[in-house]
Amino acid sequence: MNSLQDIWNSIIGILSSKLTPTSIKTWFEDCTPVALNDGTLILHTTTELKRSILQQRFEGEIKEALREIFSCDFDILILAGDEEYEPAPDINPLPEMDGYTFENFIVGKCNEFAYAAAKGVVKNPGNKVYNPLFIYGNSGLGKTHLLCAIGTSIHENRPEAKIAYIKGDDFTNEMVRSLKEGTADEFRQKYRGVDLFLVDDIQFIAGKEATQEEFFHTFNSIYEAGHQIVITSDRPPIDMLRLDDRLRTRFEGGMMADVKPPDVETRMAIIRNKAGHLGMQLTDEIVAYMAEKITSNVRQIEGVINRLTAFRELTGDEITREMVDDAIKAVVRDGVYVPTPETILSEISRYYQVTEDDIKGVGRQKNIVSARHITAYLIRNLTNLPLSGIGDFLNRDHATVLSSIRKIEGQIKTDKDMAATIRDITSNINSRQ
Ligand code: ADP
Ligand code: MG
Repeated sequence: MNSLQDIWNSIIGILSSKLTPTSIKTWFEDCTPVALNDGTLILHTTTELKRSILQQRFEGEIKEALREIFSCDFDILILAGDEEYEPAPDINPLPEMDGYTFENFIVGKCNEFAYAAAKGVVKNPGNKVYNPLFIYGNSGLGKTHLLCAIGTSIHENRPEAKIAYIKGDDFTNEMVRSLKEGTADEFRQKYRGVDLFLVDDIQFIAGKEATQEEFFHTFNSIYEAGHQIVITSDRPPIDMLRLDDRLRTRFEGGMMADVKPPDVETRMAIIRNKAGHLGMQLTDEIVAYMAEKITSNVRQIEGVINRLTAFRELTGDEITREMVDDAIKAVVRDGVYVPTPETILSEISRYYQVTEDDIKGVGRQKNIVSARHITAYLIRNLTNLPLSGIGDFLNRDHATVLSSIRKIEGQIKTDKDMAATIRDITSNINSRQ
């Protein structure tokens, strides 16, 4: 039940229960499916007349049938005669937001509040009730999706609006670079004059003083101009221990909305929807089985479905429970995310604004030495690498690694700031999964 023809047969099946056999024969006999692409079902019929009847009388019913099968909305495009289907060129000027819309966001109890708040922003950007909108929650639950959906919608409503999307860590990097290159003024202008400021993963700026200072001024000038700010984070401001208090107050001064892991109904709807967009129809049994097995994270659901599409293309078979199990095993890894030493190193290098070579090198500057100790400590705690392996990775012998680890263990007990730093960095690493 996977090919386009199968899907079309299901649609005809549903329509047959609502329409007379004569209607079906007259209007649908020479109507054929051409493609199912990016949320649009493309059909072909023989004459202009048939097309116009199909559009006027039956489009709604076809859409309803699609919704029944896939739990999501599709557009319908009907070609007639010798018209051919050419995929439309992409005119989205905000490429990084491509594909993240409100229409393809599945709403459930877990995210309905955040969804409504995001819609509220689109309706009334700059309104104090939703300014800033601060969306928080664990990784893979749709924060970036909602943030970009806001951008996409406002862009559609007001193509002239100046919209900036930036990740918290890129804000830091851009700022540092602009200071080095003597272009700090341009950097300031760039963000302070926008109508809509979308900041993804703000947690990355916590603990970085110069960045927080700059961000504070950027925030204020956008806010005071009555323009809209939307921020996402993997935790609420109160849990961002190293966040400047002035920023915390600002973040908490608008609307805060969390996204939670989806309940089983929402997971089933998401699975149907994602599979549908890839032109893959799963049986109810398989949908329920998947929803039962993948519980925490929408990104994982997507990963599993992508794998299944690949299996299907390889084997051409019906999706089975065994295939689902294999796909889950490949994607979820027993539910525990194990970062690589490279990821840990790169996160710490970013956090401390020192290079990876510095960390692996011999320099004795204070922040480099801290970064080095923390790298050893976190690799030990977050991966299964033995001390000798950590030593090889960091160009150190195993006794030196052990002494680094002990040092951090000691500091965590006595120094609140170190404990908070470790927690921040760990959380950043986990949000990279
Ligand atoms: P986060 O920013 O919270 O880590 P993302 O927004 O990147 O998560 O979501 C991860 C993936 O899951 C994206 O591809 C996104 O489109 C999808 N996703 C998350 N929540 C939903 C939802 N409610 N409906 C549809 N897709 C979703
Ligand atoms: Mg995100």
